[in-house]
Amino acid sequence: MLDATLISEFCGFLGKENVLTDPADRFTYAYDAAVLDPVVPEIVLRPTSGKALGQAVRLCNENRIPLTVRGAGTNLSGGTIPKANGAVILTNALNRILEINEADMYAVVQPGVVTATLAAAVEKKGLFYPPDPGSQSVSTLGGNVSENAGGLRGLKYGVTRDYVMGIQFFDVNGQPVKTGSRTVKCATGYNLTGLLVGSEGTLGIFDEIILKLIPLPAHQKALMAVFDDIHQASETVAAVIAERIIPATLEFLDNFTIRAVEDYSRAGLPVEAAALLLIELDGHRVQVEEDADKVASLCRNLGASTVRVAKDPAERDKVWSARRSALSALAKLKPTLILEDATVPRSRIPDMVRAIQEISAAHGLAIGTFGHAGDGNLHPTILTDRRNTEEWTRVEKAIDAIFDRALALGGTLSGEHGTGIAKSRYLEKETSPGTILYSRRIKAALDPNHILNPGKIIG
Ligand SMILES: Cc1cc2nc3c(=O)[nH]c(=O)nc-3n(C[C@H](O)[C@H](O)[C@H](O)COP(=O)(O)OP(=O)(O)OC[C@H]3O[C@@H](n4cnc5c(N)ncnc54)[C@H](O)[C@@H]3O)c2cc1C
Repeated sequence: MLDATLISEFCGFLGKENVLTDPADRFTYAYDAAVLDPVVPEIVLRPTSGKALGQAVRLCNENRIPLTVRGAGTNLSGGTIPKANGAVILTNALNRILEINEADMYAVVQPGVVTATLAAAVEKKGLFYPPDPGSQSVSTLGGNVSENAGGLRGLKYGVTRDYVMGIQFFDVNGQPVKTGSRTVKCATGYNLTGLLVGSEGTLGIFDEIILKLIPLPAHQKALMAVFDDIHQASETVAAVIAERIIPATLEFLDNFTIRAVEDYSRAGLPVEAAALLLIELDGHRVQVEEDADKVASLCRNLGASTVRVAKDPAERDKVWSARRSALSALAKLKPTLILEDATVPRSRIPDMVRAIQEISAAHGLAIGTFGHAGDGNLHPTILTDRRNTEEWTRVEKAIDAIFDRALALGGTLSGEHGTGIAKSRYLEKETSPGTILYSRRIKAALDPNHILNPGKIIG
């Protein structure tokens, strides 16, 4: 139990209404989108200014209270599961876009700004913030930067890391630290911005983030290629890239996922198809039209039974919003859903699709597969019931097998969902002893008391 004097100290600078100690309130912040046991924090704090955020961090450190910062809690790796004796710090009141600079094409935001809110705000000015995680309508930019989130447009536009120009963060003592700059180029000092991106709240707490913007593409064209053979679809992914065409998005859905999504969204997807590729090209009109024709012929040549072109933006949006609902659609089918994001070099996508099918059969599990195939990032999604202990043992073996296969194909354990608690114990499989040693030293140097989101990434 936290000391009453300390609680009143938090109330002093946060306001009583922003300090939650009631069990029902605290339970709300005991879990996130990962399938892990909930842990109820001791206290929940909601700073409404950057200054209060820094004070909260300092007070937690001085009193050795482990703290976990929480954006929208949508991460899939247990990154916001707190410690039982710890604090959760919410960023949902730190949700202002501080600046959109049209001349220098950057935005400065507080960490609690919702991803889609920034994207919509800059779009009105003819600018583009490309990272678009499937959760963008609720996820926060603080959470995105901390997880180095990807999204559907990763293939052409990269991931969150590619847009972070600088960060102002609070160190564990609550002191503000600045990294990066508002300039296109910045070669001053160590790349601390790079270190902070993807640090999952373990090294510092973001207060302000400077994000790069680019011009909004003038023209877009969306295609849906329907395949009767799943392997022809996966081989087409690699073939499109081999043609030196880089679509903005190149998404793959297997039959299991197509049926679930269609049942959920009624978007008119072909439920008999073995697999679909959803492709969007963007850029200059002439180039887009030329590339779209080439991609459509390539798909047909490689076995697509139909290639549909979206007639208008409304039809395009309908299909993309159906794709974005894949996780929710699959989640309806069974009590527990494990969404993995092991990623392989994109030329190995056909091998990974085959491997997932074999693993599904070998372990007798339903696995739907969809994802950002164009950048090698598939989401094999295991549907199960965690209460069924016998099945759960098979699920754990299947997850291990997916990771092993991805690594054997030259891939990585996580393309975009981060390490958190869920993948911490697998870290040694992919990295080297030196990676873990230096990661531990960096953590100890920046957070000697292990207050900042302990137990994540390096365990
Ligand atoms: C339906 C669905 C679809 C998804 N699709 C994608 C996708 O396409 N691509 C993708 O990459 N991910 C996806 N995700 C995962 C998730 O949305 C992302 O990881 C996202 O970046 C998390 O944002 P959040 O605001 O929810 O952060 P949270 O889950 O609240 O936090 C994530 C991490 O960030 C840390 N953090 C939060 N704020 C700060 C801060 N101010 N300073 C320091 N650390 C901080 C937390 O401590 C935690 O470690 C999806 C999740 C769901 C549920």
